[in-house]
Amino acid sequence: MSDGVDALVVGAGIVGLAVAEALARAGRSVVVVERHAGLARETSSRNSQVVHAGLYYPAGSWKARLCVAGREALYARCAREGIPHRRLGKLVVAVAPEEVATLERLRALGTQNGAPGLAILDADAVRRRAPAVCAVAALDSPATGIVDAHALALAFAAGAERHGATLVLAREVIAIEKTPPGYRVVARGASGAHESIHAAAVVNAAGLASDRIAALAGIDVDARGLRLRPCKGDYFALAPSAPLRFEQLVYPVPGAAGLGVHVTLDLAGRVRFGPDATYVDRLDYAVDPAKAAAFAAAARRYLPALQDAWLTPDQAGIRPKLQGPGEPFRDFVIEEESAAGLPGFVNLIGIESPGLTAAPAIAERVASLL
Ligand SMILES: Cc1cc2nc3c(=O)[nH]c(=O)nc-3n(C[C@H](O)[C@H](O)[C@H](O)COP(=O)(O)OP(=O)(O)OC[C@H]3O[C@@H](n4cnc5c(N)ncnc54)[C@H](O)[C@@H]3O)c2cc1C
Repeated sequence: MSDGVDALVVGAGIVGLAVAEALARAGRSVVVVERHAGLARETSSRNSQVVHAGLYYPAGSWKARLCVAGREALYARCAREGIPHRRLGKLVVAVAPEEVATLERLRALGTQNGAPGLAILDADAVRRRAPAVCAVAALDSPATGIVDAHALALAFAAGAERHGATLVLAREVIAIEKTPPGYRVVARGASGAHESIHAAAVVNAAGLASDRIAALAGIDVDARGLRLRPCKGDYFALAPSAPLRFEQLVYPVPGAAGLGVHVTLDLAGRVRFGPDATYVDRLDYAVDPAKAAAFAAAARRYLPALQDAWLTPDQAGIRPKLQGPGEPFRDFVIEEESAAGLPGFVNLIGIESPGLTAAPAIAERVASLL
């Protein structure tokens, strides 16, 4: 890590790897520094692996624009490179007449955002599509899909390396010093030894630690409203023997804290329920088995046959949220920090869902800022 580079990316999650590839493809010398010994070991491997269509986000927001752009780039890449994915569609289901207005609102918003083919289905059509689901209506989103997030991360990593980027694992960035015309970044290895590198530009793609990395660079994260509020989401797996089959993803109408306990499918056809949403102080990924009953109760609103005993604890993920409980929508922060006296320092903070879907478009945006 001794020579200087054009750009150093902190974090080898899906976003950092996509950024590294975009910068390397643009001809920059790039180093990615990751604290774990492997790639995409945090939020990028602890999510629903859904390619979102772009239904939920305020029109014109980064979340809306980059989700839609990222979705198409992601599907194209998956098709080109044989990355496992399925455009299987999703139903957002209304279980009471008063929820239908939310479906109409989502259809209008999603269409405005660029989600194609949105249609409202009546109760009979829902039953034909998803016999286990009991609903008065549903919003059909045919562009929603699933992807193998790890394979996608590896594709970004391979692309970055093909264009000359270097991935440095098991090094934790612990200091960032402004040394015009760039930055000296200090990282600590597993043995405790420190190494440093000079970079003309730094991209902070540190996920749940992105507020801390911004602070290391000298940004007052509290004054700027950039302190993260980690929000945990647990998942429960459906027993393979359970007599419930799904051909598409099934979501309830969204609530204040998230998209609600939904049915996700992985590429092997495994069914999971989740994630719920609980603000946490510590990054602890344990899933409490006692929550099975609450999960089943939430999903039983639209899956009346579901039994508590069919659910077993699965994985958990933690959202790097900028908004605390009950606070209004916060967008992705994608900011080149010249105005804060840090030219060439790009912050990516609050990259929660749909960050996986948006990753290719976030990367293009970052490349355009540097
Ligand atoms: C429960 C849940 C469900 C989700 N579902 C979806 C979904 O279905 N579809 C979708 O589009 N999005 C989804 N998301 C969002 C998506 O997973 C994230 O937006 C995305 O993975 C963020 O990637 P990232 O690279 O920014 O962060 P991360 O994957 O967290 O990567 C950040 C990396 O930075 C590293 N790092 C941190 N600090 C340092 C340091 N000091 N030095 C070196 N390295 C460091 C970390 O080790 C980590 O590897 C979900 C998120 C959650 C939590």
